Amino acid sequence: MPEGPSLRKFHHLVSPFVGQQVVKTGGSSKKLCPAVLQSLWLLDAQVRLVLHFGGGGFLAFYSCQMSWSPPPELSPTCDILSEAFHRGQALEALGRAQPVCYTLMDQRFFSGLGNIIKNEALYRAGIHPLTPGALLTPSQLEALVDHVVQFSAEWLKDKFQGTRRHTQIYRKEQCPAGHQVLKEALGPPAGLQRLTWWCPQCQPPLPPEEPQ
Ligand SMILES: [Zn+2]
Repeated sequence: MPEGPSLRKFHHLVSPFVGQQVVKTGGSSKKLCPAVLQSLWLLDAQVRLVLHFGGGGFLAFYSCQMSWSPPPELSPTCDILSEAFHRGQALEALGRAQPVCYTLMDQRFFSGLGNIIKNEALYRAGIHPLTPGALLTPSQLEALVDHVVQFSAEWLKDKFQGTRRHTQIYRKEQCPAGHQVLKEALGPPAGLQRLTWWCPQCQPPLPPEEPQ
């Protein structure tokens, strides 16, 4: 799954062509004959393929997957890179009983958040991935959302500047403090299991609750 910053940069590059008509097509694809796009109008930027436009400009897509798809139904209030991102809604979702690493990957609440952002935000917030959200304090939840938004925005900025965003925990053997990092596939019982990296010292598990 591509993460938000990659998609945002693509959208930024493609959007000047929205509203223009395809006057000539080129390239090849097993899934879709590029000729069927001739004389169609680019209505929205969602999508091997070359589209030529009336103004002389063209767009070339390499190694991409093409399919006809309905418009996205997700609201900008869930988009971690949107100004309309609704913090309150995100905090409420994160505060549920299930492990925070499951909720972070739920695109209904954190659209654009992928495995790299999940790992990095949890490390920076010092939160163990399997901590049930309901056991975190409001300030820990706030800090986690802050790190999600901040890391995503910085990554997007790096992409526009053509620089690589360095990760602190994702695919690392040691955390920046020099501790040995643990790795395990984690996810909801019936859902996708994603490789998760965490530092047992910087992100300690919460002690079990005392019986009442
Ligand atoms: Zn550490």
